[in-house]
Amino acid sequence: MTRLIFLGPPGAGKGTQAKTLADEWNIPHISTGDILRQGLKDQTPLGVKAQSYMDKGELVPDELVQEMVQERLSQVDTKSGWILDGFPRTVNQAVFLEKLLRILNQNGEKVVNLDVPDETVIARLLERGRKDDSEEVIRRRLEVYRSETAPLIDFYSSRQTLVSINGNQSLEEVTAELKKVIAS
Ligand code: ADP
Repeated sequence: MTRLIFLGPPGAGKGTQAKTLADEWNIPHISTGDILRQGLKDQTPLGVKAQSYMDKGELVPDELVQEMVQERLSQVDTKSGWILDGFPRTVNQAVFLEKLLRILNQNGEKVVNLDVPDETVIARLLERGRKDDSEEVIRRRLEVYRSETAPLIDFYSSRQTLVSINGNQSLEEVTAELKKVIAS
C-alpha cells in the first residue's frame, strides 16, 4: 500500500514524478493544482472562486482545497493508495489532512521532500510557460512557498519519517532515487 505526500517548491518536479510513479503503481495521482485548473476550465463554482488566487500566485483558501481533497480521498479508487501532489501547502492543511486520514482509516503515509535550489526552479518554471508562470507570479509563488509551505518540512520531520531527495538531477535519476527511498 503506497500513500505518498510530495513536498517541494513549485517547479521541483512533483507533478512529473508523481505522475510517473502513480502510473507505474496504478494508484491515483491527486494534484490539487490539476483539479483546480480543471475546475477553472469547466468554470465550476470552485474553479471560478480559485482563479484570482491562482493568477496572482497566492494560495487558494484552505477551506476550498480541503473540501476538494476530502471529496477526492473519499472516492473508492483511493483504497489502493495514492500520491498527493500540491497538498498540504499550509500547516493548517496538514493538520486537516492528518485528521481526515485518521477518519478515513488511511494512515501510514510517507512524506517526500523534493529539494531544488531557487535558480533551478525559476528556470524550469519560465521554460514551462503555464499561464501562471510569468516571472512576477513565479516570484510570488516562491515567497508563498517559503512562508506557508516550507514550515511543513519541520511539521513532518517531527511527526514521522520525512525523506528528502535531491531534485536537482535528471528526471530518471530522481525517479530512481524515489523508488529506492519508498521501497525502504
Ligand atoms: P506548482 O506546479 O507551481 O507547484 P500547482 O499546480 O501545484 O503549482 O498549483 C497551482 C496553484 O494552485 C497554486 O499557485 C495555488 O494558487 C493553487 N493551489 C494548488 N494546491 C493548493 C493548495 N493545497 N492550497 C492552496 N492553493 C493551492
